[in-house]
Parts: sequence; structure tokens; C-alpha cells
Amino acid sequence: MKYSGKLPATILGLGLLGSAATAPLRAATSVTCSSPVRAQPRPTEYFISLADNTRHLAHVSLRFSQASGTLTLNMPVWNALYQVRDFAAHVANVRATDAGSRPVPVLSRQNSQWEVVATTPCVVVEYDIYLDNSGPFGAQLDQEHAFFNWAMVLMYSPATRSQAMSVQLLDVPATWAMRDLHVLGEAPAGRVENAVGTAAGYDQLVDSPVELGVFQRFDFQQDGATYHVVVHANPSDYDAAKLEDALRRITRVAVDWMGDRPFDEYTFLYHFPRGHGAGGMEHAYGTAIDLNAERLNSSLLPVASVSAHEFFHLWNVKRIRPQSFEPIDYQRAIDTRALWFSEGVTSTVGDMLLARAGLISDRQYIDRLAAEIDELQARPAHRWQSAEDSGLNAWFEGIAYYHTPQRSISYYNKGGILGVLLDLRIRQITQGRRSLRDLFQWMNHHYARKGLFFPGSLGVEQAAEAVTGQGFADFFHDYVADVRELPYNDFFGFVGLQLAETAVRTLTPGFATSSFLGSPPEVTSVDPGSEAERGGIAVGDRILEINGRPAVAPLENQWARSREGSSVKIRVADRRGGRNVRVKLSARETHAYILEDTPSVTPQQRTHREAWIHGDDEPGGQP
Ligand SMILES: [Zn+2]
Repeated sequence: MKYSGKLPATILGLGLLGSAATAPLRAATSVTCSSPVRAQPRPTEYFISLADNTRHLAHVSLRFSQASGTLTLNMPVWNALYQVRDFAAHVANVRATDAGSRPVPVLSRQNSQWEVVATTPCVVVEYDIYLDNSGPFGAQLDQEHAFFNWAMVLMYSPATRSQAMSVQLLDVPATWAMRDLHVLGEAPAGRVENAVGTAAGYDQLVDSPVELGVFQRFDFQQDGATYHVVVHANPSDYDAAKLEDALRRITRVAVDWMGDRPFDEYTFLYHFPRGHGAGGMEHAYGTAIDLNAERLNSSLLPVASVSAHEFFHLWNVKRIRPQSFEPIDYQRAIDTRALWFSEGVTSTVGDMLLARAGLISDRQYIDRLAAEIDELQARPAHRWQSAEDSGLNAWFEGIAYYHTPQRSISYYNKGGILGVLLDLRIRQITQGRRSLRDLFQWMNHHYARKGLFFPGSLGVEQAAEAVTGQGFADFFHDYVADVRELPYNDFFGFVGLQLAETAVRTLTPGFATSSFLGSPPEVTSVDPGSEAERGGIAVGDRILEINGRPAVAPLENQWARSREGSSVKIRVADRRGGRNVRVKLSARETHAYILEDTPSVTPQQRTHREAWIHGDDEPGGQP
């Protein structure tokens, strides 16, 4: 996944208040044991009615045709994000009936779990679920569209989780079309109810979110595959031709780089909202991406960057998959130390693909990398939180303090840098004849294509040793598992670059904030003696507005074009309520890391650099 701390807010339950007495426009189609199905009957059948979309309520019926004894039903507590979000909190009015449509008792013995005693082989369990969490990590039903990550919508029975199941959508508004990321396929407007999907099991189903509504779409063919592009946005907010060109380039170079195309169809699903929105979620046969429409106006790079990252995930994490993810436990937070690789090194490759596709220049590639190094080195926590541990602690990311520079680093950030250093080390050892490309192809061949999961960091280390014939224990011990300072210039010398510092001036309001999942930015530090401190801004305060506009992280963007000394009106909320504070932006002298040429760059170093940035191996046969 990829998010940038600016996700849309979840406003739990607010839509229910005041509208509870409002009847749905259409009654939900009722499902009984004798209701017909369009698909071949499966042991578990889901029916989802969208009749009550104005109140964000989906009506779910689960029909079990082979039940006996006590039937257990679970609602996942997490999905998509490494955050326990207790989706059961949105579930209301759970009830069940038997083959004769007689009520069957439903007991809730623990949170997120229900029990139904089946008195007949067929049992129908029904509930309503409130869905108004937008974005690629959410589930939303409203008058305009529906987007479902199924794990946030559908209960499952542990006993039948791995068996075939079907999904049928009911009461879909007549003008809506449908596209999902694998299982259901697509249905044009007005015929959505004819689209019945089947999945091999719950894991496959929840990896295939669906979009319903009125959207734009186009397809393109390339190298034998069909790519579907679905965009829910104002058509004037983006340039479809440019988007298609970028996606054609990214998909072509990625498939070529991996020497593998483990799909015939792949779907890019975009939302470009005018307000909040930033992030992408990978799936085996597609990706769901949200980006702020205003960011698209100035450059295609943000959407190309997220798209490249998510597309590469179809290999790294969806198929080249760490053992710690399997089997997925939907009922509790999982422990994994592999995110530095599964997320961070996906970013390494994502940027390389942009360069390889000609979407960024070599200089841009190097500057983006230097900015990542600057970010890591500026956080004191890089001295006490390892790359592995930052992934293990992903579950803390909903807590503002966790984002402070003294508490955490990002596994995207350090993992992305480690991917670069690993690539350079492999190239050094083999004089450029082997690279990160060989490492990924080796892992694809030895794990993904054999249906095996890799043993975390150890599996990556073994892959690096296999493609170079040399030991990597020190690299993985010192830089992945431990917190040894990264000796950058030992790596960058191979491509004629060195890390240097340069003085920069930045504007600051006198305080720093962090934000997660669209919550208002929270103050995490206040500069001593600053105007912000004198104005009473304190750690823990929430920043609601800047100059009368909603505060969206990162706040720096909102005064990027301001001058030193200009005044900013800030709406702050603290324990006592809301108030306005005026602060002047002051300039801060600081330094930033840059990557520059070493004093004399040899032609050979330039050749190595060119191959490194574009992800190529250099000729020369076996190392
Ligand atoms: Zn990712």
C-alpha cells in the first residue's frame, strides 16, 4: 500500500443520527432459503442489497446451504491497513432464519464473533452494515457510488473460509456500472444485478474490491494482456490520454523487468476526489488508488508514482509473499518484520520503473533518493528503531506521538533506501552484471511461481547470496535488523556519487504536526520561545484550519509560496475548545542531504550509474 497521511476521515455513525426514522427509498430484496440464485450454488452465498444507499447502509444476507450444529461467524478486525479497526462496530441487527423462514437465535460470545445454531441445513444470516469510509482502504456506500473492500463488509465462517463462495449484488441503482478487481468482473450500467461472481474462498474474495457507480473507463492491450482503467472523478480533473500513456509505459517496463506476467487482466481503479485523498492499495489483479484532484492538475507524477508502486506489488507482496502474512489472521494484529522489503523495496523498484519508463529523469531519480536519505537522517529514531522493527510497529501508526522523529522511522523510507543499497552492493560485487532485478527474478522463481512464501529478511538475504555467490549476513544484521548508521558513500562510490550537505532555508510556524487517516494534524512539538508557544499552541492540540481552509497534512504545502514574516491564521482545537491563533512564519536555517558527483567520475562509473538507475544488468556473462 502507499499512503501519505492525508486520508479521508471516517465519521462513524454520524450519518445514522437524525435519519434513522427515514425509510429506505426501496425495500431491500429479502433472501430466504428458497430464493433463486443465478450462479451455480456454492456452500456460502452472499447477497448484498444497496437499496438503503442514501443512509450508507448495506443489507447483507449470507446463505449457508450445508450448515449443521453451531455455525460461527467472524467479522474481520483489520484489513488493507495495518490498523485494528473493528469493522463489527458498524454491524447492526444480526438475525437468522432457517429453511422454513423461522427465526434462529444468534449469540454474540465475543467481539466480532457470532454463533448461530443451525436446525436445518440451510440457514440465512442477515445484518445491516454502515459503510461511509472512503478511499482504497475503506468501504463506502452512498448515492453516488459504492466501493467495497469486502473484509469490511462481509462476515465469514472459519469453517468454510477456504471453500467456494458466490456474491450477488441486489437493488443496484439502474444507472450504475460495476467493475471489480478480479472475481466479479464487470457489468455495464443497468445490468449489474446480472453479474454474479464466485470466489475460490474468502481470501480471494477480499482481495477483489468492487466499484459501482457512474464512472469513466478505458482499456488497453499490451504484450498479450488487457489493462482496464476505471476512473471515478470529474472528467475535467485529469487527462485520460496522458494517464493511459503513463500506465502503458509503467506496465510495459515492469513486465519486461520481471520477465513475467502472472495475469491476463489487470485493473487500475482511481478516485480523484476534490478534497482529501491519497493512497493506494495493491491487489493480485488490480489496484485501488485515491489522489487529490488538485495534485493532478500540476503534474502526472504523483499518480504515476503511486501506480508504479502498486503495480509492482502484484509481484512483491501479493505473490512474492512473506510467510508471516500467511495464513491471514483477520481477527488480530499480525507480527511481521518484512515490511521494509514488501513496502520499502517496492518503492525502490517503483522509482526505478519511473526512470526506466522515461517518466522521470536520471537527475530526478537521484534527487528523490537524496530526499529520502534526508528524511531518514533527520529522524533521531533511526538510531534506535531498526527497519525490521518499524514494520513490526506499523500497528502504532494511528497514534500521533508514534510519528514523531524521536519515536519512529518509516519502513517505506528506510526500506526504500535499503533496496537501493542492496542493489548497489550486488552490483559492486558482480561489477554490474547482477542487480536487484536478478534478486527479484530469483525470488519470483523460487517462491512465487512455486506457491511458496519466503522466510522474511532471511529469504531476501539468501536470494542476495544466490545471485552473487557472496555472503550478505553483515548487511542484513547491521542495516536491516540493527540500527548501524548507513555508510552511504561506501555504496554510492560505485556509481560516482557521494552524499553531501547543503544549507537550506525553510519556513516554519514554530510547531510540528503529524496526521494519520485524515484526522486533523496533531501538534507533536513546539519550538521553545516561538510565537506559536507564546500563542498557547501546545503538544496534543489539533490544527483544524489554516487561513480559513481545512488543515491538510503536510501543512508545509499550505505556506510553500509564502514569504518569511507573513502571518498565518490557525484554527486550533484543544481541551478547552476551539480558538484562532496568528503566527508569523519564520525562516529556519538547516541543512539537507544531496547526492552529487564524486570529484572525478570515470566513464565506467557513469556506465554503472546509467544501468543502476534504469534497473539494467551490465553485459559480461556470469560474474
Ligand atoms: Zn505499498
